[in-house]
Amino acid sequence: MDSIWINAPAKINIGLDVLRRREDGYHEVKMIMQSIRLFDRLTLTKTDMPGIHLTTNLSFLPVNRDNLVYRSASLLMEEFGIEGGLSIHLEKRIPVAAGMAGGSTDAASCMLAMNDLYNLGLSKHQLMKRGVTLGADIPYCVLKGTALSEGIGEKLSTLPRTPDCFILIAKPGIHVSTRFVYSNLVLDEDTPHPDIDRMIQAMKQKDLEDLCRHMGNVLETVTIPAHPEIAHIKECMVANGAIGSLMSGSGPTVFGIFDDMDKAKAAKAKCQELPFKCFVFVTDLYR
Ligand code: ATP
Repeated sequence: MDSIWINAPAKINIGLDVLRRREDGYHEVKMIMQSIRLFDRLTLTKTDMPGIHLTTNLSFLPVNRDNLVYRSASLLMEEFGIEGGLSIHLEKRIPVAAGMAGGSTDAASCMLAMNDLYNLGLSKHQLMKRGVTLGADIPYCVLKGTALSEGIGEKLSTLPRTPDCFILIAKPGIHVSTRFVYSNLVLDEDTPHPDIDRMIQAMKQKDLEDLCRHMGNVLETVTIPAHPEIAHIKECMVANGAIGSLMSGSGPTVFGIFDDMDKAKAAKAKCQELPFKCFVFVTDLYR
């Protein structure tokens, strides 16, 4: 086998809480991660020309060590003394810097694909251990599905499946800096924390309505005041049939949960009528 392709799914945070700021500056989080069927695609091909040759359909993305795909490939090539060259084409469909872990899922999928292409024989756990050295979300992106992420994002446990539903994604064309959001997050007695344990209970009971009722993302307290478009999208989704709607990660992507595909499509059309530009997409969960 000289070539292999893999789909790298995006994630949304059905719940996101920040418990505290640690002395080393990292934040202790408690997040419900969910993969969705919105994918980047990586194609890896062995070549004779030594080194890693990365190409992508987005001209503004780096194709050197600044790209997480390059770094993850390089990590395995060096550790396993892989000779010859590797050409990687990354077809991006997940919006960049959107709170959907685009770079992390690409890196995780690159390692999964190399494991097969070069018969490295690494278990998922062994890939996760390597991935965390490049980014806190990468272990989850190796695992995929529905998971609880704790610590700084590296402590993972699988959760009961999120009840079946349809997801509307809307990403406004604004830039949100993750660093800005975390550094402006105020954690005091007035901070509205989502009840992640209550959400997990709803998932166990397969109760989509109850799950949506308790959805929350503490980072909205920073991102929404800075970017009111996010609140407008949430309102638009709920007014048009979403059972619940939330910002994912540090934003700016908003998702809505629907029990019916037609309702999700109708809400998508309404989001497209908002007075600012949005990337919109209807999909469902990736198990
Ligand atoms: P998260 O949800 O983990 O915060 P994100 O969606 O906010 O992720 P990414 O799309 O992963 O953010 O990209 C953030 C930055 O990382 C971009 O500015 C980009 O230049 C850089 N980057 C490096 N590798 C990649 C990649 N493979 N895909 C997208 N961005 C990448």
